[in-house]
Amino acid sequence: MDTRTRQVEEIQPGTPGLLTVYACGPTVYRYAHVGNLRTFLLTDLIRRTAEQSGLRVKLVQNITDVGHLQDDSGIDLGGEDKLLAQARAENKDPFVVARFYEDAFHADLAALNVRPADAYPRASEWIESMIALISRLLEQGNAYEVDGSVYFAAQSFDTYGAISGNRLEDLRAGHGATGESTAEGKRFHADWALWKAAGAQREMTWESPWGYGFPGWHTECSAMSVELLGERIDVHTGGIDLRFPHHEDERAQSDSAVGHEVVKHWVHGEHLLFEGRKMAKSTGNVVLVSDVVQRGYDPLALRLAFLQTRYRQQANLSWAAIEGADRLLARWRGLLAEWAEQPSKPMCAEVSADFQEAFENDLDTPRAVQLLRRLEKAELPDGSKLETFLWTDGYLGLDLAREIGKPRAEVPAGAQALLDERAAARAAKDFDASDRLRDELAAVGVVVKDTKDGQTWSLG
Ligand code: AMP
Ligand code: ZN
Repeated sequence: MDTRTRQVEEIQPGTPGLLTVYACGPTVYRYAHVGNLRTFLLTDLIRRTAEQSGLRVKLVQNITDVGHLQDDSGIDLGGEDKLLAQARAENKDPFVVARFYEDAFHADLAALNVRPADAYPRASEWIESMIALISRLLEQGNAYEVDGSVYFAAQSFDTYGAISGNRLEDLRAGHGATGESTAEGKRFHADWALWKAAGAQREMTWESPWGYGFPGWHTECSAMSVELLGERIDVHTGGIDLRFPHHEDERAQSDSAVGHEVVKHWVHGEHLLFEGRKMAKSTGNVVLVSDVVQRGYDPLALRLAFLQTRYRQQANLSWAAIEGADRLLARWRGLLAEWAEQPSKPMCAEVSADFQEAFENDLDTPRAVQLLRRLEKAELPDGSKLETFLWTDGYLGLDLAREIGKPRAEVPAGAQALLDERAAARAAKDFDASDRLRDELAAVGVVVKDTKDGQTWSLG
C-alpha cells in the first residue's frame, strides 16, 4: 500500500531486476522495543518477497546517532538531543552509548531472522553529505539561514503534505512541521531546521559553513538515501508515525534537491499496541526481545505473532498471543521433523501459488498463515507437506526446519523391537497383530500413527 497515492500499487523496480529499498532505522539511545521491531520486520518481508520472485534487493537502513530531538510521541524535547540526554543519564560518552545500542539493535534483528541490510550508515558519519545537501537547497532558494541555523522553506515545495495529507495552511503556528516553535527565527511556522546552530551544546557538533552545529533529524535520511541508493528509490519504509513530519520533510528536501520525485513508493507499518495501548517508552509498556526470551519463548514466536496481523493494521500484542505463537511454531517444527522421515514429494502447487499470491498482494500474511494451518491438516503425502512448508519459510523466516534431523527423544527400552514387529505385521496385512502391538507400544508410552507412507511414532 503506497501511503502517498493511497493505493495498492504494483512495484516495478526502476532498474529491471534490482529493487532499491531505504528503511528508516533506529535512534540508538535505548534498546529497540518489539514495536520498533515490527516496523523493521515489514522491510524484511518486502525484501524476502522480492527475492523469492527473483529480484536482487539493495537495502539501506540508517542509524540515527545524532539530531533526534523529539520523544516517541512526537513531542519536542526542548532542543535536547535524545542521545545526549541518555548519555548524561548513563554518565558516558554519547558515541559509546550509541554504539552499544546499535550492537543491541543488530542482535535483535538477528534474533528475529531479519536479514542484514547492505549498509547501515550512521548519521554522524555523513555530516559532509548533509552539508552538501543543505548548501544546494540554500543555493536553489529552498532554504535560508538565520543565526547559524538553516531552515527549509516549506512553501518552496509545491506538493508538501502529499504523504500525510497535511496542508501547510492547516498546520498551526507553534505546531509546525517539526514541533518547533516559530520563536527561533523561522520565517514561516511550518519551516524546519536542516541545520541547527550549536548554541550551548558542546558534544556532537560539527563545523559547517554556518558555524558549529548539528543536523536536523530529517536531513540525514535525504542525504544518505540519495547518495547510497541514487536519485530514484523504489521503496521507502518506516513506522506510520514517521509519515509526518519526518517523511514529509525528507521528501520535500530530496525532491527539491534533485528536481524530481525520488521515492516511488512509501510504505508504512501500523503501530504495535501492547495490551491495548501503543507501545512506547513514554507510555511505559515497552517489551524487549530479551523479555520474550527470559519468559522462555523463542524470539521467532514474536515474528510469527506479528505475521498474524497485516502490517497496515494495528496489532495488539499480549503475552497470550506470544505464547500461542510459540506453541504453533513448536508444533510446525515438530511436524516437519516427523514428515522429513518420509520420502520427499513435490510441493503442493495449489497451496504454494495461493501462498505466493498472499505475500505478493500487499503482504497478506494472516492469509498466508491460515493457508499453512490448512495445509498442515490436508490429505496430502507428508513429503509434499514438508516441501511446501520448507519453501514458504523463505518468506516467513521462522526456521521451520530447525528440528529436522535432530536426534529424537529416546524410544523406551524394547519399543524399537515392537515397532519393527508392527511394521512387519502391517506389511503382511496381519491387522490383529498390528493392533495388539499398537496397544503394547501405547502401554510403554509410544503412540503410533499410520500414514499413507508408513507408520510414525511419537512419545505420548
Ligand atoms: P525510533 O528508534 O524511535 O526512531 O523508531 C524506530 C522505528 O520504529 C520507526 O520507524 C518508528 O516509526 C517505529 N515505531 C515506533 N513505535 C512503534 C510502535 N509502537 N509500533 C510499530 N512501530 C513503531
Ligand atoms: Zn528516516
